[in-house]
Amino acid sequence: MNKAVFLDRDGTINVDKDYLYKKEDWEFIDGVVDGLQILQNLGYKLIVISNQSGIARGYYTREDADKIFEYMVNELKKYGVIIDKYYYCPHIGNECNCRKPKLGLFYQAQKDFDIDFSKSYAIGDKIRDLSICEKEQVKGFLLDMVPEIESKNIRKCKNLYEAVNLIKKDEQNG
Ligand SMILES: [Mg+2]
Ligand SMILES: [Zn+2]
Repeated sequence: MNKAVFLDRDGTINVDKDYLYKKEDWEFIDGVVDGLQILQNLGYKLIVISNQSGIARGYYTREDADKIFEYMVNELKKYGVIIDKYYYCPHIGNECNCRKPKLGLFYQAQKDFDIDFSKSYAIGDKIRDLSICEKEQVKGFLLDMVPEIESKNIRKCKNLYEAVNLIKKDEQNG
């Protein structure tokens, strides 16, 4: 079985600019490339799971979304970082089972990559990115110092790079 880090995209990997789909607007958050490199070297699958309701809202198309995801993948590849897969929900509302906090895409990824949740992490800037931590043994990092959280499985930190350093420490402590 594999271990994975489930990554939110907007506000976690790139600077969140509401309903982003143009590559001119893409901006990696500081430390993300280095952080992802470290995770990859530690043997984690890198899985991006993202809500893209801009599609259902008519702001951009699936094709636009795929293009910007591919842009992200290719930019990271330049630094030797391989995103194993990205998944996104194009819907709005709560009818589907793939829009976070729903867990459909997490279970899909688990199946696709034979993931051991108990050795895996989730990182996101919204609590809905970490709903998997309530249901499964995935440990989470919330990149938002403000909200109160009750889950024992979730720690708060400033950014992805800081989360990666805590994962590194977890690894060292076995
Ligand atoms: Mg986000
Ligand atoms: Zn959906």
